[in-house]
Amino acid sequence: MIKGIFPTEKFKAFETPFYYYDMALLRDTLDTIRRETDGKPFHIHYAIKANANPEILRLIASYGFGADCVSGNEILRALECGFSANKIAFAGVGKTDREIEIGLDNDIFCFNVESMAELEVLNDLAKARGKKAPVALRINPNVDAHTHRYITTGLNENKFGINEQDLPAVLRMIADGGHINLIGMHFHIGSQITDLSSFEDLCVKVLELREWFHTQGITLPVINVGGGLGINYQHPNHCPMADFESYFRLFDKYLKLEEDQTLHFELGRSIVAPCGSLITRVIFVKEGIKKRFLIVDAGMTELIRPALYQAFHHIENISSDKPLTPYDVVGPVCESSDVFARDFTLNESQRGDLIAIRSAGAYGETMASTYNCRIIPSSRFSDKL
Ligand SMILES: *Cc1c(COP(=O)(O)O)cnc(C)c1O
Repeated sequence: MIKGIFPTEKFKAFETPFYYYDMALLRDTLDTIRRETDGKPFHIHYAIKANANPEILRLIASYGFGADCVSGNEILRALECGFSANKIAFAGVGKTDREIEIGLDNDIFCFNVESMAELEVLNDLAKARGKKAPVALRINPNVDAHTHRYITTGLNENKFGINEQDLPAVLRMIADGGHINLIGMHFHIGSQITDLSSFEDLCVKVLELREWFHTQGITLPVINVGGGLGINYQHPNHCPMADFESYFRLFDKYLKLEEDQTLHFELGRSIVAPCGSLITRVIFVKEGIKKRFLIVDAGMTELIRPALYQAFHHIENISSDKPLTPYDVVGPVCESSDVFARDFTLNESQRGDLIAIRSAGAYGETMASTYNCRIIPSSRFSDKL
């Protein structure tokens, strides 16, 4: 087994747990995305919610990418970290008036509107400012993303998006309101999608809807297909990057754009997940009945994905090269779901060893909590050790 390259000696001096980011890998990833989209009318909006660490955001912004935000505070964070307002898209089923005002006052690129109720409020708030709000309608395409049900968002049973049958009423509302500038349609079918045929299904649906808008005399310059591209959690060393080439090629092939139409992507996980690891120390090795527990000083408070979505993370003991043996790797939090992995094969481990929980750069640090009065973990960067 290839081990990740970690500066274990340096880590020994640090308090654990902490997030460690491989900034060279992040740069490599951003370079790859830039290369794969070069010369195409493709625009990337990084989904801030995946990782909102300012160092990470500043690097991504420096590539000229836009941002996809799901709260008013994410818009403010994006602006602080160098994203231009005219590249910010704002999604979310529950935007408050205050959050909509942040978007309007900063003249963001687009509101991805998820309901008629929201459209009405947005129209009124724009009117009060003498503005027209740029809008893409988030349409629920009823496409199955074939991923965990907690991260499936594009089915009729999900809370997200506007249903197709409501579209005529939506268009009437926009015409009557007078303060909405309809520029696009938006979709986001789920996350950690590794079966790319789901995106093919999405393209078919997008083309169908584009035709329908044409029948209404409407041409939309913006098509936004959201995010969701998955990564390989099993083999972070062999496959450190998402398959951007196949992903962008698929859209190029199945979604022929019209003149002056641009295709927008909101990638989160695929950009930041591989570059992050949660570094933790073994507190105790506990012999259970038929089980050996590795009790580490990080828990679901630092990385909730295994507890929340039964997510898999590859784990390495970066202090040991002793023979491999199975452990249940668990945190100290008082919940039975506070388990990182069961029967995971690791180099034989002892108290004080450093453990790396891999591919934790997305939905890790951003989801940290203070449950059990724990402290939000710090972060360290490979280029600043
Ligand atoms: C979460 C989210 C994304 C990013 O999804 P990833 O799976 O991390 O790429 C994109 N768009 C919207 C609207 C989202 O809610």
